[in-house]
Amino acid sequence: MTYDHFFSVALARLHQERRYRVFADLERIAGRFPYARWHSPDGPRPVVIWCSNDYLGMGQHPKVISAMIETATRMGAGAGGTRNISGTNHPLVELERELAELHGKEAALVFTSGYVSNETGIPTIAGLLPDCVILSDAWNHNSMIEGVRRAGVEKKIWRHNDVGHLEELLAAEVLERPKLIAFEALYSMDGDVAPVKKICDLAERYGAMTYIDEVHSAGMYGPAGAGIAAREGALHRIDVVEGTLAKAFGCLGGYIAANADIIDAVRSYAPGFIFTTALPPAVCAAATAAIQHLKASQCERDRHQERAARVKAVLNEAGLPVMPSETHIVPVMVSDPEKCKQASDLLLAKHGIYVQPINYPTVRRGTERLRLTPTPYHDDKLVDALAEALVDVWRRLGLPLRSRVLAAE
Ligand code: PMP
Repeated sequence: MTYDHFFSVALARLHQERRYRVFADLERIAGRFPYARWHSPDGPRPVVIWCSNDYLGMGQHPKVISAMIETATRMGAGAGGTRNISGTNHPLVELERELAELHGKEAALVFTSGYVSNETGIPTIAGLLPDCVILSDAWNHNSMIEGVRRAGVEKKIWRHNDVGHLEELLAAEVLERPKLIAFEALYSMDGDVAPVKKICDLAERYGAMTYIDEVHSAGMYGPAGAGIAAREGALHRIDVVEGTLAKAFGCLGGYIAANADIIDAVRSYAPGFIFTTALPPAVCAAATAAIQHLKASQCERDRHQERAARVKAVLNEAGLPVMPSETHIVPVMVSDPEKCKQASDLLLAKHGIYVQPINYPTVRRGTERLRLTPTPYHDDKLVDALAEALVDVWRRLGLPLRSRVLAAE
């Protein structure tokens, strides 16, 4: 008896729905970000990465790399165990202190990834609140959706960023019932920002706990890179801040920061924290170096915002359909899964530009896009080359450019 058939049918379904994912085999070159080598089927070729979540290039920063090398040389490659059984290493303890301080909380807890932080953090917190109801923003990331699902408690989904709807759902509950509001600070696909203060107002009025995902904002927004809640002056009103060490901080790992009892309870009850090997000391030391650098240095944040504004302006000027966003995320809309994939393939093959197509289920059907993430290292020359390449691809695929450009021909 072979079961192969089931797997090939499942894969065929993905192909048919144009959802089959192909990964680009990349070799990043330390010190040359965003330049990289692409191991194409025909051999290695130079490319420029335009879709990295290493938003500030910290994964390539000399301080971060040296912290990693120095710590690995001194302490070895792995943590050697779970947190409880010999895996709690000193750089990890220091990292948790650093994260607690960054977010102005009493304590922090590091997980293997941001995904795991949500997937195990949310159900653990909700599970410790008797008869809890979770109120989750409709556009929350899959890791939060999975966390909510695992909680096995009642859930209510509020329309994305719609505080009126959130209030309706809150008001329908008795005041005494424990409630957990879960949302993102900055939504990674559209680059829009949550109305944090209004959510905190409602949480206080209806006696709810707040859980904010700052994965796409920590390090990049707010004083010292403490995130959007800090920028809005609302950090002290947020109960749990969740984040990643893999985006602005350029490494790997996730965390939550909160008051000491919440952190101690999650530490004591969360299976995704307890039953897995701790992060290697070298990764923790590198993440701490990145956090400390970004706490003290504003120039990466300023340049990041300036570059994102420049990319938006140049692409708009070229007549490309840039979705307006107030943040560093630059979505260029294709609105067709097949063409989105073709646009990405053409950019790579003809122009040496790597930007992954974003299709369903990551975004809603009909809103397929190229999601550009400018970094401080994308200079004017690269931005102009990107605009030219996109216009060329748009023409090849018969995608609409705004008339100003066509009229100028
Ligand atoms: N939350 C959000 C909003 C995300 O977009 C992601 C991943 N991109 C995660 C959590 C998971 O973070 P990590 O990559 O560290 O697992």
